[in-house]
Amino acid sequence: MKNFKAIQAELKVSRKEYITPHYIRIFLTGEQVSLIANTTVGVNNKILIPPKGFKQIHFPEFDYDAMIWKPQPEETRPSIRTYTHRGIDLEKNEIWIDFVAHGDEGPASAWALECKEGDLLGVLMKDGKTELYGKAENYLLVADATGIPVLATILEDLPNTAKGTCIIEVHGKEDKQHLETLADIHFIWLYNEHPQQGSQLAEIVKQQILPETSRSGYVAAEFSSVKEIRSYLRKEKHWKQEELYAYSYWKSGVAEDKSAGERHKENAESKVE
Ligand SMILES: Cc1cc2nc3c(=O)[nH]c(=O)nc-3n(C[C@H](O)[C@H](O)[C@H](O)COP(=O)(O)OP(=O)(O)OC[C@H]3O[C@@H](n4cnc5c(N)ncnc54)[C@H](O)[C@@H]3O)c2cc1C
Repeated sequence: MKNFKAIQAELKVSRKEYITPHYIRIFLTGEQVSLIANTTVGVNNKILIPPKGFKQIHFPEFDYDAMIWKPQPEETRPSIRTYTHRGIDLEKNEIWIDFVAHGDEGPASAWALECKEGDLLGVLMKDGKTELYGKAENYLLVADATGIPVLATILEDLPNTAKGTCIIEVHGKEDKQHLETLADIHFIWLYNEHPQQGSQLAEIVKQQILPETSRSGYVAAEFSSVKEIRSYLRKEKHWKQEELYAYSYWKSGVAEDKSAGERHKENAESKVE
């Protein structure tokens, strides 16, 4: 498995835009932006937040034999979190990443709230193009705010012959966004100021009349919602594995690096259901 090729970019904040009160778009620039040109918008990346005051990112080294990142000394180790490659403009030499502003208890959200022009952020990405979602005539797109970047990318890519339903849960009415699409999409926006305490997403999915043929589902949200929605669609509605991409993006009460094992196990289980 020595063909894993990671792009490693040390970038700087060039600008920052509040899309809504709890959703911040951060533009990043640097010499290595061009390395990211051959990836797919909407795929995940790793962001590396350096310890306070550091003027350099200490990237982890990959151990190709064990297929793991080598441990790093505590003093220089960046906080690593998973985000979505939301866009790139080679003329402006910028990429951008959208952050849910969920408070300052997590290093990534805290960094997004505080960062200013010139601040450093490391980005790691797998090089090359990937198929982001399964193609069909009918779509079911479901996310909380963390999944807006990937759903927005899918919506922008859908042709005008596609149709479907998109259910998104955000903090409040002022966090509703206009998402561009040519497709015929029925949008349902849900509001939830405390997503750590539970979500309506699964319940609302269960109320929908779902397509029976040529269907593709994409679900990106908190662990419990994803688990329930996946189980409903696969077991009760008999969606096949290739008809549904469902990913747990975070777990309530647990920092991302501590919940990764559990989330990956849950995601993997879907492949054998
Ligand atoms: C493939 C993938 C792509 C992702 N893309 C994005 C993206 O583009 N934008 C984005 O904002 N997030 C994205 N996420 C989710 C993001 O990785 C998590 O929300 C992550 O926990 C944020 O890190 P943090 O340092 O802010 O908080 P952490 O240190 O991980 O967690 C601290 C506390 O905050 C809680 N928490 C974490 N996220 C939220 C939240 N959204 N709302 C409320 N409480 C929360 C945790 O449960 C924990 O109690 C993605 C996740 C995956 C797996």
